[in-house]
Amino acid sequence: MEKKRVYTFGNGAAEGRADMKNLLGGKGANLAEMNLIGVPVPPGFTITTEVCTEYNELGKDYVVSVLKDEVEKAIEEIERLTGTKFGDKDNPCLVSVRSGARVSMPGMMDTVLNLGLNDESVEGIAKKTGNARFAWDSYRRFIQMYGDVVLGLKPQTKEDIDPFEEIMDEVKQAKGIHNDTELSTEDLKELVKRFKLAVKERTGNDFPENPWDQLWGAVCAVFDSWMNERAIFYRKMNNIPEEWGTAVNVQAMVYGNMGNTSGTGVAFTRDAATGEDIFNGEYLINAQGEDVVAGVRTPQQITLEGSRRWAKQQGISEEERAAKYPSLEESMPECAKELIEVQQKLEDYFKDMQDLEFTIQDGKLWLLQTRSGKRTGGAMVKIAMDMLRQGYIDEKTALKRCDPEKLDELLHPVFDKKALSAAKPVTRGIPASPGAATGQIVFHADEAEEWASNGKKVILCRIETSPEDLRGMATAQGILTARGGMTSHAAVVARGMGKCCVSAANNMVIDYKARTLTINGKEMKEGDWISIDGTTGYVYEGKIQTQDAELNDDFSALMELADKYARMEVRTNADTPRDARTARNFGAKGIGLCRTEHMFFEDDKILAMREMILAKDEQGRRKALEKLLPLQKTDFKGIFRTMDGLPVTIRLLDPPLHEFVPHDEKGQMEMAKVMGISYKDIHDRVEDLIEANPMLGLRGCRLGNLYPEITEMQARAIIEAALELKKEGVEAIPEIMVPLTGIVHEFKAQKEIIESTIKKVFSEQNDSVEYKIGTMIEIPRAALTAHRIAEEADFFSFGTNDLTQMTFGYSRDDVAKFLPMYIDKGFLKHDPFAVLDQKGVGRLMRMAIQEGRSVKPTLKCGLCGEHGGEPSSVKFCHTIGLNYVSCSPFRVPIARLAAAQAAIEG
Ligand code: PEP
Ligand code: MG
Repeated sequence: MEKKRVYTFGNGAAEGRADMKNLLGGKGANLAEMNLIGVPVPPGFTITTEVCTEYNELGKDYVVSVLKDEVEKAIEEIERLTGTKFGDKDNPCLVSVRSGARVSMPGMMDTVLNLGLNDESVEGIAKKTGNARFAWDSYRRFIQMYGDVVLGLKPQTKEDIDPFEEIMDEVKQAKGIHNDTELSTEDLKELVKRFKLAVKERTGNDFPENPWDQLWGAVCAVFDSWMNERAIFYRKMNNIPEEWGTAVNVQAMVYGNMGNTSGTGVAFTRDAATGEDIFNGEYLINAQGEDVVAGVRTPQQITLEGSRRWAKQQGISEEERAAKYPSLEESMPECAKELIEVQQKLEDYFKDMQDLEFTIQDGKLWLLQTRSGKRTGGAMVKIAMDMLRQGYIDEKTALKRCDPEKLDELLHPVFDKKALSAAKPVTRGIPASPGAATGQIVFHADEAEEWASNGKKVILCRIETSPEDLRGMATAQGILTARGGMTSHAAVVARGMGKCCVSAANNMVIDYKARTLTINGKEMKEGDWISIDGTTGYVYEGKIQTQDAELNDDFSALMELADKYARMEVRTNADTPRDARTARNFGAKGIGLCRTEHMFFEDDKILAMREMILAKDEQGRRKALEKLLPLQKTDFKGIFRTMDGLPVTIRLLDPPLHEFVPHDEKGQMEMAKVMGISYKDIHDRVEDLIEANPMLGLRGCRLGNLYPEITEMQARAIIEAALELKKEGVEAIPEIMVPLTGIVHEFKAQKEIIESTIKKVFSEQNDSVEYKIGTMIEIPRAALTAHRIAEEADFFSFGTNDLTQMTFGYSRDDVAKFLPMYIDKGFLKHDPFAVLDQKGVGRLMRMAIQEGRSVKPTLKCGLCGEHGGEPSSVKFCHTIGLNYVSCSPFRVPIARLAAAQAAIEG
């Protein structure tokens, strides 16, 4: 049998289902399901995502030829259900053509509405509806959209001008009109004529009058839009594979712009910004969907309660609100009632917060889309925990619903309370995406990118954003817009990115040419500092200091739940008591890596450290090490005290010594004075330390083996610290870690030094503590000979930064020169220093664990490279049987959730 490529739906029946998202895309699958559960949906059909792949591989002619029969039949079905005829001049069937990938990619791909209109059928629609203005307005919108999307007239650069916009402006200017709604039927006819001329001028061809030509053109344009620049960028940012492709949904048109008993809107079953369990959304009377998204007119709220809340935020009186911006509950109570019932039905059915699109045509409600709504990190946690308590979902589902990376948003800064109390807001807008941001004003997305790449913090200020602004939005600290609402582009995209955004700032006027923004008469220029609060909607002039977020009960409850299911523990990489405290507060179960070298850079220590390195002989080194010993001990005590009762893995000195010594004349002179030797001696020693490739040079345990007295000093400092704390009642659990082992003998030699030092300290103090001695596995040879090393080591900790470096042969410091090219060419899917390379580096790890445990079944294995806080890497660590991962303090909650998800997914 021929492969099925088209799935129809309508009037309570459907060939697809909600669980067919891979084939039908999210939109198509849910349109089918809505039919099946009795929600009113205009009839239509979905062309599968597989056809998109065929289109990209085999081309347009092939795809049109294999689709023809099925599409013609599906159109007949729409005709039957709507009582219209595709291409008929008196009673035409008009359709929309929209994209729909597996996951939503808001605004990234193309849409064509009102397809099927031509010079004849426009008259038919005018007669049928008795509304000539409506018919001609739909026709001019169609030509404009089709011209932009299918015929390629859309501007490609900032300098290009959209010919349709230009004509529109000319006509409006000539008539002295500001609003599109003021255009008369005659104006619209004139626009149609001029639009068509523009098409002929630009493309050399007449605008297609045949609806079938129109349909195939639009279907192919939607497939083409899967490969447009912004869709590719969005996919990269969100890790969406290119192979997925988009489906195409063709659906009978319904109109929200047929007069004052029609309208269109977008709604959420719960609050997408805060997670609060309240139905909310926006609509416009006598408008089409794109009018809501474009943010040109001020949208109104659906519920009365929401409307009053909105008016309060905007500083609008109740009288003005009721007269100018009534809620849907007030303006169309019957439809509002039905919509409220439908939203409840959809949430009950899909058991998740839904994002709905609806249109009311002449008093009849139609749902055009339902999908799981995008939400902020805070809303994600609240909705998951609320739905768990409300009995919608079970514990495992609640955990799976939360995206570990999005927890990051909860840890986002808020304004410093004291600094904020001194600041006076200059205006307030809609709190579109939470968090606080402070930065310099820029007005264009490309400039935001440029400034940010120069290390500047910027706030992207726009009248309204569009998908072209995506890169600039991604690099800005926050986004501020003059127009729009909760569902406009800036708001939806910023929430998706977890970026702070205030939209529709009251009385804010932006002048792109003058590069100024004016709020209530106060002018601010490009480069001036501004601060925005996406949680309250307030905008402040100047810079306001930010502070870390405070975590709420839902967050703690989610974390507890995560620990209930996770099998792997999460530790932290911390070198100071402050970091250790932060990580402990985030639930770290110990320190997996304390890099001791970071402790030597402070003022009092760096001189003694330099003295140790620059010393001519062992005696000189020992003298300097004696000075370092008490300082190190104090550092270790601080960390042990903070981690009281939890294990602390302390790594012996790792980096090349030349990193610590002064390379300038002034610094070298100072050291000569301190040490009482000549400048030349110092200078020669510094030269001597320089290596061609220090990353592969004298570092790690090579240092401790060349200068055993360093290892001795560090082992003594660790154990003396632990013993002193024991007397105070603090339980220090030291795990001493040898870095950069490649040969078992290197480790054995270090272990002997450590053990003999510990023995000495125990007998000096007549006391003892429990300790472990283990090693990093970060050199491929160590992984390959893990069975030998495991005989000697108490634990392994995979240093995946170095292991990646040495497995790939990419220098950690120089990889940026070619990595972007490798990712562009598809040689690598991700930066392997950020996302663990499971096939290569991961294979070495798996092997090392198996071999290590074959000789020591209880061998404890962890990971302490940067991958320890990256969800997909954490999940991999679970599958290969690691006992723990260790990551930076702020990644601890992310790793805890990822570890739980890994355990649930099995
Ligand atoms: C590693 O190599 O993964 C590691 C944790 O050590 P460092 O980054 O300090 O080399
Ligand atoms: Mg390392």
